[in-house]
Amino acid sequence: MTAERARITVFDTTLRDGEQSPGCSMNQPEKLRLAQQLDRLGVDVIEAGFPIASDGDFEAVRAIASVVRRPIIAGLARACRPDIERAWEALREAARPRIHVFLATSDIHLQYKLRITRDQCLAQARESILFAKSLCDDVEFSPEDATRTDPEFLCRVLEAVVEAGATTLNIPDTVGYTVPSEFGALITTIRERVKGIENVTISAHCHNDLGMAVANALAAVAAGARQVECTINGIGERAGNASLEEIVMAMRVRPDKFAYETGVVGEQIFAASQMLSEITGVPVQPNKAITGRNAFAHEAGIHQDGVLKNPLTYEIMTPQSVGVPDSKLVLGKHSGRHALGIRCEQLGYQFDRRALDDIYRRFVRLADKIKKVEDHHLLELIRDTHKPSGSATPLIEPIPSAKAAAVNASAVTAPAPEPVKPFPVGPQTNAFGVPLPAHTDPHHEQTQQEDYLWGV
Ligand SMILES: [Zn+2]
Repeated sequence: MTAERARITVFDTTLRDGEQSPGCSMNQPEKLRLAQQLDRLGVDVIEAGFPIASDGDFEAVRAIASVVRRPIIAGLARACRPDIERAWEALREAARPRIHVFLATSDIHLQYKLRITRDQCLAQARESILFAKSLCDDVEFSPEDATRTDPEFLCRVLEAVVEAGATTLNIPDTVGYTVPSEFGALITTIRERVKGIENVTISAHCHNDLGMAVANALAAVAAGARQVECTINGIGERAGNASLEEIVMAMRVRPDKFAYETGVVGEQIFAASQMLSEITGVPVQPNKAITGRNAFAHEAGIHQDGVLKNPLTYEIMTPQSVGVPDSKLVLGKHSGRHALGIRCEQLGYQFDRRALDDIYRRFVRLADKIKKVEDHHLLELIRDTHKPSGSATPLIEPIPSAKAAAVNASAVTAPAPEPVKPFPVGPQTNAFGVPLPAHTDPHHEQTQQEDYLWGV
């Protein structure tokens, strides 16, 4: 199966387009640290910066080029000699350098921003690629604002730069305006009309202004693009770029729809996301797909119960597959006894039935008041509920484990002489006090009733 899947080049622009977004600027050591994590993540290309933009950017690109040796290191340049020279100066020590040249092609950009004609644009694109190619074998060209460019003119420009030696043609939806069907059709048009296209890689660079960056990138891939430009956590200009983790995991979770593979090491995704967030101080939106803190959190009791029994009930991918340490069960008033018991165990406490009932009652009252019960609340509640009374059979039995050791030692105040046996003991009733038939699993029945009771 794997052999049949087309390999997609993952071009990460977190350090360039991402870094341009408000509040996301990084200094050189930070950029280098993140570049090393992107290397561990397995991206194919790291766009390290825009060398002519500032001395800081130049130095960062140079440092990354000399230290990070596996991936291709790209530097951005406008379609003019000084930019391309500066980019090359920063990149020349790279094991695999790439110069990325861009020039706007839409009439609105030509007329108002660049104040040049289409013919001038065509000539400038060709000349700048010829010059870049004289310095570096690997040259990428981006017609800025491609999705608002006359497709006929776009194809002429692309043909000219292929002839001049460009090896990757990146099609940017600079303003986040396109939709998947339209963008896919544009890629098809380019494949049909640009002479020499079969010898170069088509790339997609999508922005998320209408929330369709990932969908657009995937549509481009379906139409024949073989490189996607994206960022960690989807950061980038305005509403951001297509999110790397969403593209990669869409391909991994739905190979029936997206039969492509990438070199990305899924287990490094969460670490990359956390590192970026820690460096920039910009938190990840809690409900962000894949990397948001709620992406694998289940609060509704019936969901929690299902996930604990078999994660596939509510999880389409495991948290571990993207490097999230564990599925986080958020304890709130909708949580069931089963989830509460598991969390207590994770904190190092195992309770018999009666003790868990007791804690559960108090937990529900607390959850009503404070919405989200954190571990420290739970520990306090455990301490309050089960103060050691000198009884010979304390109800709380700490579990000797690494996790238990991490828990505040003061929470464990009574060493138990003997482990307490878990239930079942005595006749069982369901949540409504109705005795259960002897052959049913009382714990299972109780959990189900209780979870429906609390709602989803
Ligand atoms: Zn962009």
